[in-house]
Amino acid sequence: MSASQTAAGCAKAAPVLDFDAVIIGAGVSGLYQLYRLRELGLRARILETGSGVGGTWYWNRYPGARFDSESYTYAYSFSQELLEEWNWAERFAGQAETERYLNHVADKFDLRRDIQFNSRVAAASYYEETRSWDVALEDGRRYSTRFLITAIGVLSAATMPRIAGVESFRGQSFHTHYWPKEPVSFESKRVAVIGTGATAVQAITEIAKTVGQLTVFQRTPNWCAPLHNAKIGEDEMRRIRASYPEIFARCNESPGCFIHKPDRRRTHEVSPEEREAFWEKLYAEPGFGIWQGNFRDILTDRGANALISDFIARKIRQRVKDPVIAEKLIPKNHGFGTRRVPLESGYYEVYNQPNVKLVDINETPIERIIPTGIRTSDTEYEFDMIIYATGFDAITGTFDRIDIRGIDGVSLKDRWKDGPQTYLGVLIEDFPNMLMVMGPHAALGNFPRAVEYNVDWVTGLIRHARDRGVTRIEATAAGVAQWTDHVKASGEGLLFNEIDSWMTGVNRNVEGKQTRKIMRYSGGHPTFREHCDAVVAEGYRELALV
Ligand SMILES: Cc1cc2nc3c(=O)[nH]c(=O)nc-3n(C[C@H](O)[C@H](O)[C@H](O)COP(=O)(O)OP(=O)(O)OC[C@H]3O[C@@H](n4cnc5c(N)ncnc54)[C@H](O)[C@@H]3O)c2cc1C
Repeated sequence: MSASQTAAGCAKAAPVLDFDAVIIGAGVSGLYQLYRLRELGLRARILETGSGVGGTWYWNRYPGARFDSESYTYAYSFSQELLEEWNWAERFAGQAETERYLNHVADKFDLRRDIQFNSRVAAASYYEETRSWDVALEDGRRYSTRFLITAIGVLSAATMPRIAGVESFRGQSFHTHYWPKEPVSFESKRVAVIGTGATAVQAITEIAKTVGQLTVFQRTPNWCAPLHNAKIGEDEMRRIRASYPEIFARCNESPGCFIHKPDRRRTHEVSPEEREAFWEKLYAEPGFGIWQGNFRDILTDRGANALISDFIARKIRQRVKDPVIAEKLIPKNHGFGTRRVPLESGYYEVYNQPNVKLVDINETPIERIIPTGIRTSDTEYEFDMIIYATGFDAITGTFDRIDIRGIDGVSLKDRWKDGPQTYLGVLIEDFPNMLMVMGPHAALGNFPRAVEYNVDWVTGLIRHARDRGVTRIEATAAGVAQWTDHVKASGEGLLFNEIDSWMTGVNRNVEGKQTRKIMRYSGGHPTFREHCDAVVAEGYRELALV
């Protein structure tokens, strides 16, 4: 018998619920959601696995962890006072600075009294009779709530590689996501890093500064571009502060909510000389400009994409002395920008160090982890430390790790087996009163910009319901079908949807995630907002409100 059937059979009296809203997750999304729900006067609580706030910036303490977004574009914009008092120290803040910032936010708005740490949600079931959710923690504690709001992150379910023998290793080993709070020394150590995604690129560059011997195991190289980080002095911070309204407005106009907007021109509209000069300029500038501020067709036109890929390949060849290593570091199975571009601060030069070795595991696959290190098809390597920079079961992975049951016990994991189906990335049919912040099929991008919109939309819907005595909010089948089709259509013709990556739901280390799916909205944030605003303007008529 399903949870909801049991509840339907038992519940007689009007429900006395523990909370109006339970929010799962105390990252950028959850903190802001709590702030907004408090404003509505709701009894809300955050349940958070970790022992502190920050989400991504609480967990990922690996060496080199930092923003690829400009710090000042990542700031919350909802509080002028917060904007006035916070000084960013670096253009691209490191993990510690961002964690400090989010702790400051939690303290300033007195959020902690409604955050319950060390509380991993294991299951959540909808009860039709009471129009409420029962939320169960891993340790057995349970709470009832009218609304269940997930703010669990798109990159928060870490994955280990599927390699035999991981448990047998006798040295130190870490996954980058679960990096310890205590300092880790690499001096005189033989260190292995498995993975070469955005996290690995940051970690490898930092570890290489002090390591004894570093061996990098690479399956898929990525196209990396320079970050060009720098300190922010007092004068610059003053200028930034004075221009926050323009900064946020510019971010909101761009498809990914970044400060970098696509150039209106197409790649072939300019001469080769002009193109080269433009790319040189972008390569020398800080941040995602070369990815997000490039010619508007580099991610839709194969010819254009081949040209920019060739430009970046030439940069790699210039920077890596050994031509054989350089070729290994140049991606051959995808074009520039079709996967998330890692930004780097000397990554390629690391491979010029005599104490750094690159192992291409396509040539010599890892066979197993052994007590003393790693065995590949051609040799055994001895290590003191193995670092797994093997990323995340992205976007839906964190949902899959919670047993979420809707009407009649329907499992969300089953419902999304062939890919997510949502309404605006916020609601799911048969899962009434569950609302997602930054859920699948929402528009991603520079996070807080997208989060603030998403949370405000969710809060507006809850306010709408409260003001009308509505206690049940559900997406309709027609609404979900329409949105899912729209999300698919908006992804057509985009080269990154033709590539295996976390953005297309592929993770070779996770069973059942080998085929590409449309995981996120790729029509750009301004269009996404237009859709969501229209739903509000039309009185949420696509929703079933009772
Ligand atoms: C290394 C790294 C670098 C990044 N750099 C950038 C960047 O430069 N710019 C950018 O815009 N984005 C970046 N991101 C994306 C980043 O995830 C977002 O910017 C943002 O921090 C997400 O906030 P969130 O609150 O939505 O999710 P998260 O920060 O992931 O927080 C989710 C929280 O939910 C908790 N949680 C999950 N499941 C449960 C459960 N079952 N029970 C209880 N608690 C649970 C987790 O513990 C976590 O604290 C980066 C991500 C990573 C991993």
